[in-house]
Amino acid sequence: MFRKVHLRLAALCAGITFFILAVMSWGYLYISEKSLKSSSFTAFQNEMEDIADTLMVSSILTWDQLSRIENQGTYSIQVLDNGTPLLFNRKPSPEQTVLFEMAWNYYQEHFQILSLEPGPFSCTEFDFSSKGLGSSDYYGCAIITERNGGSLEIMILMPLTALQQQIHTQRLLFALLTALAAAALFLFSWHFTKRLLRPLEENQQRQTQFIAAASHELRTPLAVILSCASASRYGNEEERAHFLDSIQSEGSRMSGLIEDMLLLTHMENHTWTIEKRPTELDTLLLETFEAFEPVAAEKSIRLFIELPEHSLPPCSCDPKRIRQVLSILLHNGISYTPSNGQIHLSLTFDARGYRMQVADNGIGIPDSEKAHIFDRFYRADQARSKKGHFGLGLSIASEIIKAHQGKILVGDTPGGGSTFTIVL
Ligand code: ADP
Repeated sequence: MFRKVHLRLAALCAGITFFILAVMSWGYLYISEKSLKSSSFTAFQNEMEDIADTLMVSSILTWDQLSRIENQGTYSIQVLDNGTPLLFNRKPSPEQTVLFEMAWNYYQEHFQILSLEPGPFSCTEFDFSSKGLGSSDYYGCAIITERNGGSLEIMILMPLTALQQQIHTQRLLFALLTALAAAALFLFSWHFTKRLLRPLEENQQRQTQFIAAASHELRTPLAVILSCASASRYGNEEERAHFLDSIQSEGSRMSGLIEDMLLLTHMENHTWTIEKRPTELDTLLLETFEAFEPVAAEKSIRLFIELPEHSLPPCSCDPKRIRQVLSILLHNGISYTPSNGQIHLSLTFDARGYRMQVADNGIGIPDSEKAHIFDRFYRADQARSKKGHFGLGLSIASEIIKAHQGKILVGDTPGGGSTFTIVL
């Protein structure tokens, strides 16, 4: 599912950015082509004005002058003396003759009609398309002057092949750049959206794992409850009481597990808040210690407490939740410490904050497991896992401490065992 969404998102992201980029760059290309055409026409006009000036100044038009004009650039020239073409260079090809005819017709259609009474001298520049004759468009210049009572008409044509070639190359370059930009944009969007979707994907994976693990954990007590319920129908009074006891203890295990799961879900959805208030941590630690002393004594574990000699400033925290964290750590300490072991509960305070420690000399946690023990449903040794231990305690503890902007760390107790440290 995520692959499909990823592809769609990347395509959408790249598509929108590419569309904006394409509109901007093709707009720029259009403007640049227009200015190229206009500057090229202006250059042509300037050159034609110069030629017209030379023609006006010199009273006689020599073959030499005309040949020079034609050879200087890429111009084709036709001179009509009272309507008769004058040959000053090589004989024009039939295509050239037709081209000049077209140019004169264009000029007459568009410009000559305008001036009913032509003056003694006129020079008109225009651009026209040869429409089928060759592939090029042309700039044309018609110079008309009076000579010895008659008229001298000169048509100068310049093919726009070079300009069109330049425009064509520019368009190709733009198309290439746009294609490259599209590929780069898609690659970027692909990686960008991948990074964007990664937390969602991980979250979904976590949820799936959570549901699978929760179902697995609930299946065992449920199976026990069902089999006890059906067996109790056929058993005698004593057996029935035993089955009912089992049903009750499995039921309360399930209820504890469901409560933990609900708490974690609320934490995940941020529908759970901590209620901070000034709390005397030494009192809180002492109360928790007293509550766990009998539990530890049942397993012949000695519980010690070390508190600062002077009273500490109150800590802004949720006392109910901090007590819950301490209970999880003490409960684990008692569970994973063999009989005759010891557990030390301590509190210190310095410039970095409050530091609470639960140190046991139990079975300890291998370094390779330390990074995972705060994960949901993680149990270091599945075979060794105890009843009532679903692997949720430390993830709840870590979420509570995170909500307090604190830290919970795990280390080894010197001589063996585990030490959990909470920094608030
Ligand atoms: P559980 O309910 O199974 O104890 P936790 O999340 O509290 O789940 O702990 C995860 C795992 O970390 C435990 O299954 C256990 O393997 C390990 N662990 C936690 N506390 C201790 C401890 N004090 N000593 C040894 N192992 C511990």
